[in-house]
Amino acid sequence: MRDPVLYPFYANISTLPGVGPKVLPVLARLIGGETLLDLVYHLPTSWIDRRNRASFADAQIGEVATVTGIVDQLTHSHAKLPARVRLRDDTGFLTLVYFHANKQWLERTFRIGESVVASGLVDDFRGGRQITHPDHVISADKDEALPEVEPVYPMTANLTGKALRKFMRAALEKLPELGEWIDPHLLETRGWPGYRQALDALHRPTAYDPNAFHLARERLAYDEAMAREIAMGQARLARDRRASPIIPKAINVERTIIDSLPFKPTRGQMAAFADVSADLARVIPMRRMIQGDVGSGKTLIAALAAAQVAAAGKITAVMSPTDVLARQQAEAFGRFLSPAGMRVAALTGKDRQADRKATIDALGAGEVAVVSGTQALYQSDVDLPDLGLIVIDEQHRFGVADRLRLTAKGQSPHMLVMSATPIPRTLALAFYGDLDVSIVAEKPAGRQEITTAAIPDTRTEEVMDAVSRAIERGERAFWICPAVDSEDAGDASAEARREILADALKQPVGIIHGRMSPADRDAALEAFRSGDVRILVATTVIEVGVDVPEATIIVIERADKFGLAQLHQLRGRVGRGDKPSSCLLLYRAPLTDAGKERLDILRRTNDGFEIAEADFRLRGAGDLLGLKQSGVPEFRALDIGEHADLIEIARTDAKAILASDAGLITPRGVAARQVRDLLAPRIASMLSEDQT
Ligand code: ADP
Ligand code: MG
Repeated sequence: MRDPVLYPFYANISTLPGVGPKVLPVLARLIGGETLLDLVYHLPTSWIDRRNRASFADAQIGEVATVTGIVDQLTHSHAKLPARVRLRDDTGFLTLVYFHANKQWLERTFRIGESVVASGLVDDFRGGRQITHPDHVISADKDEALPEVEPVYPMTANLTGKALRKFMRAALEKLPELGEWIDPHLLETRGWPGYRQALDALHRPTAYDPNAFHLARERLAYDEAMAREIAMGQARLARDRRASPIIPKAINVERTIIDSLPFKPTRGQMAAFADVSADLARVIPMRRMIQGDVGSGKTLIAALAAAQVAAAGKITAVMSPTDVLARQQAEAFGRFLSPAGMRVAALTGKDRQADRKATIDALGAGEVAVVSGTQALYQSDVDLPDLGLIVIDEQHRFGVADRLRLTAKGQSPHMLVMSATPIPRTLALAFYGDLDVSIVAEKPAGRQEITTAAIPDTRTEEVMDAVSRAIERGERAFWICPAVDSEDAGDASAEARREILADALKQPVGIIHGRMSPADRDAALEAFRSGDVRILVATTVIEVGVDVPEATIIVIERADKFGLAQLHQLRGRVGRGDKPSSCLLLYRAPLTDAGKERLDILRRTNDGFEIAEADFRLRGAGDLLGLKQSGVPEFRALDIGEHADLIEIARTDAKAILASDAGLITPRGVAARQVRDLLAPRIASMLSEDQT
């Protein structure tokens, strides 16, 4: 239940004066929502200092200045030319320029010989200073009506800054001050304003004061971190109150599996499994993430966990983002578990009805140790009796709320999350604060290095030759394209590239992309896996988890268009077998500096963590690792790079609040609940009723 105090924040923007049916969609698109909350979290990017008074001679080109001058000349006779108002002061002339101006308005506003104040961006036209469409023009005797400071927002067409500022002011009028959730001491030492004050300080400041803007923004950032930490802290408390099945260590099964492996597990794999194994043996539900670079062998760790669970008579459900991966996982788990006599089944959308029924019956009869599927599996009516463990593969497609939803289903299985997304520590806290983390740092010994080269796309033919030679050696190749069809990508479209390759190499060439049906995608991948087709042209749908050890070469076309982490993930599709592999990054010259640096980093290192740090540095956290598409939080005031310290402080503070006031009933607790509901609603709504 939301606190009624918050209702005004959820009022629709159409309740604001001036937001009619025409403005509404424009404004809603700009602010990414329709509530007053969305509106006031559309934060200014800068503020204009209208006090920046200058004589014409001193007005700096390229800066906003406020100038005073006498109207000297008005030119608006020619309809096709812009109107020009020439002002003079003691130092010279400055011209105001208006396109499509209303003649009557011009004549009313500018009377020769009268003094006006104009404010706007000063530019240079043939050596003279001018302001095109000044933000403000008023007669000099009303000078004090000019705002001293004005926020500047990210804007869109069809809406003026003036209108937006008006809506902001109107919205703020309607929003109440809330109780204070920040520790008074912290508030004081940081010099932060109250919550409503902070919004006011940003949207309707009374003075130009960069420090005040900074403090207000910082406070709002802290609030977002706090909201999330409170919600996640509660999720953690709730989890610790629930009981999961105690799943004791199963030494014999573990040994059977390890002894039958064609390789020796790495120390990292065994250490991570030791964490998992100990978690499983406790009554507190496990919430652990195994973080390990692509190819670090996470599947084995999960399979060992599943074996421990099966030995206790429970089943394990493995969730993958796609059907293809779900079936691949079923195979991988099957390979590891069959020596222990454990059966693994896949349940995917494309199973034949009869097969599906057989699988479900086998599940019901307790004959299956591991069932592998997509999230739909868990959402469907398939009954998973004695579910002991959920394994989520490739974490970054799931957010905290998704995880909570998965486990909110009455039973309380343990949960193991496997992520190939190495992320810096601050981010790990922000995104996975509800999880314990085990890191598999090393890769299996004897892994073939992947040679990475950046090549201009003028040399595409040579690259095709290299692919051809690999195929002749009996190896396989991926060819990644940035787009499906040729509308914007020309030859770099998957369809076009497939034809070119098939023609040139006299080979069947497979294709796989997001617009194909899951069944067709599966078939294409299967043909590639079996070797019927040895070149697979693909869009980034193959980015996650596809494991074909015979693939030794991956060509990434227009590599300059992809993000660093994404390139690293793609590159991880090769180097999985015992042959040397290569990754060829085709780029289109000229590269931007950032593009060049990205490709250089990839050539230099194969270490996912190093790449993640570099990505973070180059791009900020914004779209790090494609997190944006994945339902993980998009903060509005919080910048994970800039405010890392705030996340840590909020975490400690949230813990302290929950430790002394788990029910959130003290005044500060009530306030904390308000900020949680306001700023972390998705997680908050996943918390079960008894703790809200
Ligand atoms: P990821 O961590 O990317 O999920 P996988 O679990 O798919 O990695 O493992 C990649 C490949 O390495 C698989 O073919 C797997 O069988 C193999 N593998 C796993 N552990 C080892 C090891 N210790 N030594 C050699 N190969 C291993
Ligand atoms: Mg994997």
